[in-house]
Amino acid sequence: MPRKVLVTGASVAGPALAVWLARAGDDVTVLERSPAFRDGGQNVDVRGAGRTVLARMGLERAVKEHGTGETGIRFVDGDDRSVAVFEQDAFGADGPTAELEILRGDLARILVEAGRAEGAAYRFGDHVAGFTQDGAGVEVDFAHGPPARYDLVVAAEGIGSSTRRRLLGEAGRRPIGLYMAYFTIPKGAGDGPMARWFAAPGGRSVFLRPDRYGTTRATLVSRQAPCGYEDLPPDGQRAAFRALFADAGWETPRVLEGMDSAPDFYLETVGQVRVARWSEGRVGLVGDAAWATGPITGMGTSLGLIGAYVLAGELGRTADPAAALAAYEAVMRPIAEKGQDYPRIGPRLLQPSTRFGIAVQHLVLGIAASKSVRRLTSRLFGGAEDGPDLPDYGTAARAA
Ligand SMILES: Cc1cc2nc3c(=O)[nH]c(=O)nc-3n(C[C@H](O)[C@H](O)[C@H](O)COP(=O)(O)OP(=O)(O)OC[C@H]3O[C@@H](n4cnc5c(N)ncnc54)[C@H](O)[C@@H]3O)c2cc1C
Repeated sequence: MPRKVLVTGASVAGPALAVWLARAGDDVTVLERSPAFRDGGQNVDVRGAGRTVLARMGLERAVKEHGTGETGIRFVDGDDRSVAVFEQDAFGADGPTAELEILRGDLARILVEAGRAEGAAYRFGDHVAGFTQDGAGVEVDFAHGPPARYDLVVAAEGIGSSTRRRLLGEAGRRPIGLYMAYFTIPKGAGDGPMARWFAAPGGRSVFLRPDRYGTTRATLVSRQAPCGYEDLPPDGQRAAFRALFADAGWETPRVLEGMDSAPDFYLETVGQVRVARWSEGRVGLVGDAAWATGPITGMGTSLGLIGAYVLAGELGRTADPAAALAAYEAVMRPIAEKGQDYPRIGPRLLQPSTRFGIAVQHLVLGIAASKSVRRLTSRLFGGAEDGPDLPDYGTAARAA
């Protein structure tokens, strides 16, 4: 009997899970809260075992073909002189610029289309209003549509997951002490295929990356404890960041000008999620909803893909969804916890407070970029090893 599965959230982890389950013959509906497919987001990396999963899905080539074309990262000073250069070619698939760099929206679209091709249904503009479960299924109420009963509900709702709150309360979100603002700006004369990173005193950074649409993806990073920016309306957030970065130097004035008219401005308090369990009965969590790593690790997207693969694999091994959710957590928890790890010095090194700190940063990055320590550098940036050994669920044979 095909299982009737509800997956909430149509970004990375949810659509990836839908591909596997629909391919295995389950009756899958993906429910997305936004009224339409969310195209936004910046460059995300697929690293290590995340690449293996994409290959097993038969989607590695599609992702490569939709890559951003970023060829590396240049760390620059206020006069745009390079202080350290990390070419993708020199650092391998998991260096500072990963081999598989893609815009989040492009990756999500590839996964959604692959799931639809396997028979998964997508519904936008609705969300779960509540659920109750018994030993045999989950009764779900929706904010807009009529109620329905499922064999399994999986929330892939990202860091702010309301299903996680329903299952486990407010606990689990941990701020890292960084604000990040993302938006798209017109391409400037200095914007080429290399990303550029500029650090200004006061824990501020400006990061510019190429995309494949002839525009530039900008990120402003500010190292500080949560101070309420997240509660401001978008105009207030823009004003706060304009004031914060007004005297940063380098190309910041044109970045701020672009920010004012960017249609996709988005600000987040960077944080992680660490909760004691990822499921209750037949309701489970996957991706950022369960174990958000924060963009600082570069592992969020890879873990979303890996988690979907492991959950689908464990569901293929037993007819009991609750047992599959428990087995998935046993396999996935150590992988997710390792992926959440980042050098604690990272935020301070990348966002120094003082000019002296910036000089130290340039020195350290210059050494890290040198030929003699490249392998170590790759390890620090992205976990250069191929990642965990993934269980073989027999799905490789069914892929492609
Ligand atoms: C618009 C957007 C832009 C992003 N930009 C970046 C970026 O630039 N850099 C980066 O490193 N990471 C970014 N991320 C996060 C990145 O996608 C994740 O860290 C990672 O890929 C794991 O994805 P996920 O599917 O678990 O969660 P997410 O990508 O966070 O997706 C969660 C999805 O669930 C939907 N949702 C939320 N609540 C509900 C609900 N109650 N019911 C139904 N649907 C719900 C959201 O609208 C979203 O589509 C972005 C995410 C989004 C949604």
